[in-house]
Amino acid sequence: MRALDDSSYDAARETMVREQIAARGIRDPRVIESMRRVPRHLFVPPADRERAYIDAPVPIGEGQTISQPYIVALMTELVRPQSGDRVLEIGTGSGYQAAVLSGLVRHVYTIELEETLARRAEGVLREQKYDNVTVRVGDGYAGWPEHAPFDIIVVTAAPEQVPQPLIDQLKPGGRLVVPVGPRFTVQQLQLIEKNASGEIHTKNVSPVMFVPLRRPQ
Ligand code: SAH
Repeated sequence: MRALDDSSYDAARETMVREQIAARGIRDPRVIESMRRVPRHLFVPPADRERAYIDAPVPIGEGQTISQPYIVALMTELVRPQSGDRVLEIGTGSGYQAAVLSGLVRHVYTIELEETLARRAEGVLREQKYDNVTVRVGDGYAGWPEHAPFDIIVVTAAPEQVPQPLIDQLKPGGRLVVPVGPRFTVQQLQLIEKNASGEIHTKNVSPVMFVPLRRPQ
């Protein structure tokens, strides 16, 4: 397939933001601006690049996918990113969600189980100068205690239950967004907030379908 030139990608991205993001109710202007700015096609492997802006997840290798644009925007809006926030992402995948968060917060720490994906994402993030993103190969069920606590935790693969270490690693006042439920069927996207006195409040936001959060072999 012939590669589109940069201006076609820019036009496709504008259409994506208009039709998939703004039209469906994403309102936070900072989130919309970040979706407009991050070159999503560069996070999709070359063979599928022309599909980067479609209204669906796209394969990124190793049986994994880059989430649908609307879901990335929704999760980003739900956690209410602030410029001073430190963020943990579980499931780096392509690095796209990390890049979208990168411009909105102080630092993004992101963990990926698959070494191949982690290295590729790290390469794209470095090349595109997302300098406040740190990628690590590891098991997201454990979180990242060395950098805890976090203002925000974004989990982009579905556990059957919310891993307790992630709740423990959330700051008072912190927001955690996570798809929870059985494998390869519909899960609930949950927004979990820890208030100033450490109490947990959980809200079901919407049915979603994510790849499972796997246990390491
Ligand atoms: N946020 C990604 C989408 C990731 S898809 C993006 O923007 O492209 C979910 C990712 O979670 C996959 O890459 C998968 O390999 C990873 N994953 C699955 N189980 C994991 C675990 N226990 N720890 C860390 N990553 C995991």
